[in-house]
Order: sequence, then structure tokens, then C-alpha cells
Amino acid sequence: MKTTENVGAVYLVGAGPGDPGLITAKGMARLNRCDTVVYDSLSSDQLLELAPEKAERIYVGKRAGQHSMKQEEINRLLVELGTAGRTVVRLKGGDPFVFGRGGEEVLALEAAGIPYEVVPGVTSAVAVPAHAGIPVTHRAMSRSFHVMTGHTLSEDGTLPPDFPAFARLSGTLVFLMGLGNLHPIVSGLLEAGKPAETPAAVIENGTLPEERFVKGTLGDIEDRVAEAGIGTPAIIVVGETVSLDFRATVRRPLDGVRVSVTGTPAFTEKLLASLTALGAEAERVCGLGVKSHLDSPGMTAAYQSLERYTWLVFTSANAVRLFFEGLLAAGRDHRSLGRMKLAAVGKGTARELKTFGFLADYVPERYQVEDLAAGLAKLAGPEDWLLIPRSSGGSPILNETLDRAKIRYDDVVLYDVEGTWREKERLEETLKASHYLTFASASGVEAFFDGLTEGERKALDQVRVVCIGDVTAKALNARGRRADVVAETFSIPGMTAAILKDVAGN
Ligand code: SAH
Repeated sequence: MKTTENVGAVYLVGAGPGDPGLITAKGMARLNRCDTVVYDSLSSDQLLELAPEKAERIYVGKRAGQHSMKQEEINRLLVELGTAGRTVVRLKGGDPFVFGRGGEEVLALEAAGIPYEVVPGVTSAVAVPAHAGIPVTHRAMSRSFHVMTGHTLSEDGTLPPDFPAFARLSGTLVFLMGLGNLHPIVSGLLEAGKPAETPAAVIENGTLPEERFVKGTLGDIEDRVAEAGIGTPAIIVVGETVSLDFRATVRRPLDGVRVSVTGTPAFTEKLLASLTALGAEAERVCGLGVKSHLDSPGMTAAYQSLERYTWLVFTSANAVRLFFEGLLAAGRDHRSLGRMKLAAVGKGTARELKTFGFLADYVPERYQVEDLAAGLAKLAGPEDWLLIPRSSGGSPILNETLDRAKIRYDDVVLYDVEGTWREKERLEETLKASHYLTFASASGVEAFFDGLTEGERKALDQVRVVCIGDVTAKALNARGRRADVVAETFSIPGMTAAILKDVAGN
């Protein structure tokens, strides 16, 4: 039976014009906490990454001409998801209500009694011209701006009856979805009396790295668009302010540098933010998913005999999180760890421990398994017994060092790391276009190389490969590729600094 408790909510979130940084803080907060994202072709991949890893992602793409899902079907889908108790973010390019058919979705939700909220977005109508240096109004030049769809113009090939009135407005005219109708739009404006010298621009993929635009006048804009081969999505801007050029003049150290990153969602999200803040175009090509083995015989035995161990050793934040998840599931609680000493490979791992109410007794100076192993070999003695719950691809250096020091330990597989590709069919092309490729763990190297084809492997020759530390670089070496850059500190700032230094030196 349907009760109010299991009805979900649908958030219509404006995704902004393309640049993922142009989503609002509120939109981002809704994305962070949803369990389903319904998106279309104007939504950036990077925004999808902001949804929880487990969230379901449903593509309902609509591209001009080929409607892959009808609006009615999308409405029905949103109602179904809401009725099923899901917390849905319906991501819509720009602002949901600016030619976004957001209103139709709201009406459908209202009719079905599904709670909803509209989170406004930065509309392309304003932001795309702005990014190309064109303000939609400017004192003494343009006292209004008017946004019109160019799409409905030509369903029967004619201009709407109020078009001449629109054309006579003296402010800036902005056409969305108008590229296919550029000819009737331009001739309509000229016929309505706009001078052929009126400045005009067409901007493709505004605010994105692929942005291209041409400027001209009503008299020649059609030729210029054809010459440059401007494609969709595009915005047409007509008016005096087109002659202004307020494009950003700030230059950042990683402008024009393209970086492909690999790693877990939590890690890559931070690395991408750090790199893009410096001007880089960065994208995640291979993610790492974690598959836990909380109730494997090894982990079950470990949980039942915690009292025998004197040290609990963590080599990743994931290990901490999963270990505690499994602890409770195994019917034990924090008291069973009371006497144990705790070691963490680095700051992030120690921080994760803290969230469970534990302070690490030992964190090596350099956040590397090698240093952790050396430190433990000094701190522990023959009376000690270490429990090391970690990933199956963990570094053997830890075992070798402890063996040499004759320290007892149990190295138990807590989880596996699996590679998840983003747009694998584009990988070769992406690698070829990249200046850098980053690896943040040995298991990340393994997952990446396991999935490579011959062509993709070759494409790697042209990229500079960046590793977070020596252990990762060794794993790369074992795959027959040398690291070009190795970070000095095992962290996101360390990796960013290493890339900055390399760019400056090349
Ligand atoms: N709701 C959206 C507009 C949806 S209609 C908004 O507020 O921005 C889709 C049209 O928006 C496209 O046909 C194109 O004209 C325009 N558009 C959206 N993003 C764009 C971009 N990055 N570059 C150029 N035009 C864009």
C-alpha cells in the first residue's frame, strides 16, 4: 500500500550552461544527496560524478531531431521514481524553466502528488554570451535583452507572427536552439529593418573547453558560421554589445593542459577540482570501485579473534571504513579493539580513523606503504601480532619488510579494487589528446592496465604519466611503462605541485 512515508521527492536542478563549475551550491547539495539522477545530453559528466557513487543514473537524452525519450515518458518516469520513494535529481541544462520544459515536469509531479522543488540554474542565454566576452546589457548600448527560441520558427518554415515586433526591439536579441534556422532568423531581422551592420555572434559549446564562436554582422554571419563549421548546441546573439570583448584575461598556470585522471570517485573528485582550479581541463578516464569481502572466511576469523592482535594496520581510508562496517556486522564493537595500537599509512587514513573515534598511534612521515612497513618493523617486536585488513592488490613490500623483521602478522583481504571505465570507446582518443595521465595507487595501475587494448596502450606513449609515489611508480614499471613524474608528497596537493613543476619545466 502506498503511504506518504514512502513517497520520494523530485528536485528539478538547473545544471548551468556546460562548465560544471557553474552549477549552484544548492543544486550541488541536492545532487550530493540523491539516489537517482535523470539527465540528458546537456548535462556534464563531471556533474554526474557529484551524485553518490551508488546513485542510479538514467539517461533520457534528447538531441535536436532524434527524441530518444518523449517528454511524456520523462514525466511518467519522474512520477514513477517519486512514487517508488526515490530522491530524484532531474538535472536540466541551464535553468529548468528556460526552454527546459521544466514546467511540464512540475505539472506532472503536482498532478501525482509527488513533492518537488525547482532549483534555478545559470541559463546559457546569459552565461554563454558572457563567457565569450559578450555582456547581454551594457550601459548606453543595450538597455534590455530578449531571449527567444529559434526552434519553433520553422516547423512550417515560417516565422511566428510577432517576430517583426521582436526584431524591432533595440536591446540584445538572444536565440536559443536557433542554429538550424539561422537563415530565416537573419533574413527576418533584416526584413524587419535591422541594419545589416548590426553585430551578431554564434557561440557553440559555450563555457566548455570545446567552445568556438564567430562574430560578424547580420550581413555576413551566415557565411562566417558556414566557414567555421559551427555546430550545436549554439546560441545566436544579435546587438551592439556583440562588439565588446570581455573575455577573461586571467591566465592560470595549467591553462591549456589536459589531464586524464584515474582513481576512486572521492579521490578523483578532489584532484579534478584542484587541477581545474588552476586552469587544466581534467577528466576521469578510469574509476576505481571497491568490492568488499566483509564476510569472507579470512575476515570472519579476524573479527572473531581480535583479542590476539596488538596492532591494527590500515593502508587506506577505504580499509578503515570497511573494517568498521564489518566489525559491527560481525557482532563485535569498538570495545574489542580497546588494547590495540593503530597504524595509518597517511593523513587521509588517520582522518578516517578519527571519524570512528580513534587516534592513530603511528603515521609515517612520508605517506607510503614502504615507510609504514619500515616504521612498523621498528615499533613492533616478537611479542606483537599485526592485523592488516587491506585490498587484495596491496603492496608486497609490507609483507617483505615484516617477514625480514620476523614480525607476526595476518594480511587479510578486506576488499578488491575494480576498474570502472568512463566512455571506454573514447579512451584512445582521450589519451592521445591528454598531456598527463595520473595514477594514485598501485591497484589503480593494475585496474587500468588490465583493461587496455593494444591501441590504447600505444596511445600511452605520448602522455606523461604521473604517479602519486614510488610504490605506484613501481607498479607502473612492472607494466613496462616508466613514470615521467612522481609526486614528492603522497597527496593531492603533492600531485598537483608535481604537475605544475613539470609543466613549468617543459
Ligand atoms: N534550459 C537551458 C536551455 C535549453 S534549450 C538554459 O537555460 O540554458 C537548449 C538550447 O540552449 C540549445 O539549443 C542552445 O541554443 C542553448 N545552449 C545550452 N547550452 C549551451 C552551450 N553550452 N553553448 C551554446 N548554446 C547552449
